[in-house]
Amino acid sequence: MHRDTLILQAGLPDHRTPGAFLPGPQFASTFVSPGDPSAHAYTYGRFGNPTWSAWEAALEQLEGGPAVAFPSGMAACAAVFGVCLRPRDVVVLPSDAYYTTRIFAQNWLASNGVEVRLAPTRDEGQAALLDGAKLLWIETPTNPGLDVCDLRELIGAARKTGVLVAVDNTTATAALQQPLALGATFSLASDTKALTGHSDLVLGHVATGDQDWLARIRTWRTQYGAIPGPMETWLAHRSLGTLALRLARQCSNAEALARLLHLRHDVYGVRYPGHPEDPAHEIARRQMSAYGSVLSFDLETRPRAERFLGALELVRETTSFGGIHSTAERRARWGGDPVSEGFIRFSAGCEAEVDLLADVEQALGKV
Ligand code: PLP
Repeated sequence: MHRDTLILQAGLPDHRTPGAFLPGPQFASTFVSPGDPSAHAYTYGRFGNPTWSAWEAALEQLEGGPAVAFPSGMAACAAVFGVCLRPRDVVVLPSDAYYTTRIFAQNWLASNGVEVRLAPTRDEGQAALLDGAKLLWIETPTNPGLDVCDLRELIGAARKTGVLVAVDNTTATAALQQPLALGATFSLASDTKALTGHSDLVLGHVATGDQDWLARIRTWRTQYGAIPGPMETWLAHRSLGTLALRLARQCSNAEALARLLHLRHDVYGVRYPGHPEDPAHEIARRQMSAYGSVLSFDLETRPRAERFLGALELVRETTSFGGIHSTAERRARWGGDPVSEGFIRFSAGCEAEVDLLADVEQALGKV
């Protein structure tokens, strides 16, 4: 079956099952469950919910391994760190990983006795730091720098020496890149972004092909209490039906924008792994089926970047990315990322290409 069809059908009841295509959310803090609790699929709302189960069945089909839903991407990240790491363990992170993941490791994990080693994503920089490590954390393409590492090579190097591997697959999504098939122990993502894609949900998930780790991740969620709401998971599942369509338009819009920006002499450092001249393109081509919605570029100074953002008429100035509406932001306004004052992270939406390019061009004209 073509992957687009699989995504469209993922987690739905069998096509002969009478009833709704996607049964509605079940709001329950507790379920009628007399006698032996092990005789019941659902007992208490923190342990399990049929709406999560349907969403997780869909995620399993995308990821190629069972998935556990979380109420945010950071809750998913924290679960993987939490089940894998103990004091004196070593974790190897990308120095260009998503800011909060890095800060979580450097503040929280380090203060709990975990050694945190950092190296850049490009050229598989983390491979040199694996000696004695417990967990290798990969993010590719990175947010916001859009560097890419060779997943096969880095995962292979880690697994050879017994290092666990977690891949933060947020920017690509499991639709475009499947880390479990390349040997990762965990594939996780912020589903707040392109996977759900409507800028109205905050969610995350962890998938793993290892039954033991799966049980530990589930137990973490149950005991830590980081559970998603049934309404959110149902909305996420509803959004999944259009994922392939959304991404096809978003990726082609991002590619068109990257082409346009590469041709301009007043825009610097354009990064999009789908552009043939991008330094990450060769590796990205080997492990991604398309290159996602996010691109970045540099307008050099804060005033130029702010004039650009202020002049956009169609594109909204927001943080986050991956939604059906194009968004952009000057990333340095937050601090913490190794980027210049004029660095723009741009997320291409589903607008008609002609309108999106025209808006970006007119805004650049006012810079
Ligand atoms: N991982 C990456 C790569 C992200 O970009 C983000 C959010 O931007 C997260 C994790 C955290 O996700 P959330 O905001 O859903 O907690």
